[in-house]
Amino acid sequence: MNTEKIANCIVERIVARSVMVPLEYPVKTSVGTVDASPLVLIDLYLSNGIVGHAYVFTYTPLALESTRVLVQSLGTVLCGQALAPYAFDRLLAARLRLIGRSGIAMMACAGLDMAAWDALAKAHGLPLAELLGGKVRPVPAYDSHSMDGETIGLLRAERAVDAGFRAIKIKIGYKDLRDDCHIVEVIRKRIGSEVDLMVDYNQSLSVPEAQRRIRALQQYGLSWIEEPTLQEDYAGHARIRTQAALPIQMGENWCGVEEMQRALDAGACDLGMPDVMKIGGVTGWLKAAALAEMRGLPMSSHIFQEISAHLLAVTPTAHWLERMDLAGPVLAKPLAFRDGAAVPDDAPGTGVAWNEEAVARFGV
Ligand SMILES: [Mg+2]
Repeated sequence: MNTEKIANCIVERIVARSVMVPLEYPVKTSVGTVDASPLVLIDLYLSNGIVGHAYVFTYTPLALESTRVLVQSLGTVLCGQALAPYAFDRLLAARLRLIGRSGIAMMACAGLDMAAWDALAKAHGLPLAELLGGKVRPVPAYDSHSMDGETIGLLRAERAVDAGFRAIKIKIGYKDLRDDCHIVEVIRKRIGSEVDLMVDYNQSLSVPEAQRRIRALQQYGLSWIEEPTLQEDYAGHARIRTQAALPIQMGENWCGVEEMQRALDAGACDLGMPDVMKIGGVTGWLKAAALAEMRGLPMSSHIFQEISAHLLAVTPTAHWLERMDLAGPVLAKPLAFRDGAAVPDDAPGTGVAWNEEAVARFGV
């Protein structure tokens, strides 16, 4: 540990940049398509020369510039402060108390939080998982696919199994239930019964329609049904869950651990998958992990695969890491996967650093 470096960890400045990163496959869902990945890249500079990195994903380019500006302006609150992510979280929460910390305000706070934790881990010379008291280890991952149709769906499923993945998720919610059943059936046939298969409805069904479709899908041995109905309808999820013989998964849209708690109190799901950004960064994730442990809730991650690989290593009920690469082309060293597991390297920090040449190319 470098004590001199830690003593000199004063935040000097924050730089936020926007990029549009090309995707190998567009993210197609029943409610819309993401063709390229809109990211705000955050650099948190310390007085001792350490730089913390993180990115936030804004889903739509329409929110890219406003998120970037908010990161930049909230970052001014941290400038001149000694590096302390928990204190920063309280400070930003206080500043946003009257406006409320949700939507892009939460995303911006979480991005700053992740950059601060990255910088702190680097100051200690430790990978994030070890700074948090855990060990860097391979984390079981599922390969996350889209509403790809049969030809591309089968191709991706084959590629995933060949690459060693033991679990695959596909997005469904086709116009007709028969189409949902058909794609699940052909993919199940191709990958066999030994590979886990999950499906994601991306909130697209009414409660009765979800109940009808889940009944029909029960024969395919699915490992979970994700967000069958509107994510904020916890009571609706709970009604679906009481009738379903398949586990109900949700959590990527919980904004802060308070929403996670409300969902669990409502009995909305069997499994949880907070998004490290929406749940409030590393600081929010740690609270979510404690809540999941108390409620006996298996906890998976949502996108943000690099930092999630560290966080699942210290999550008592860790379940699956989602492999969905939204940042790879702008990273200096994309996260490695081997034998169906994410394998973070043991360099200090979270493993997020930029390929500056690519950042310049995809800059907005
Ligand atoms: Mg999902």
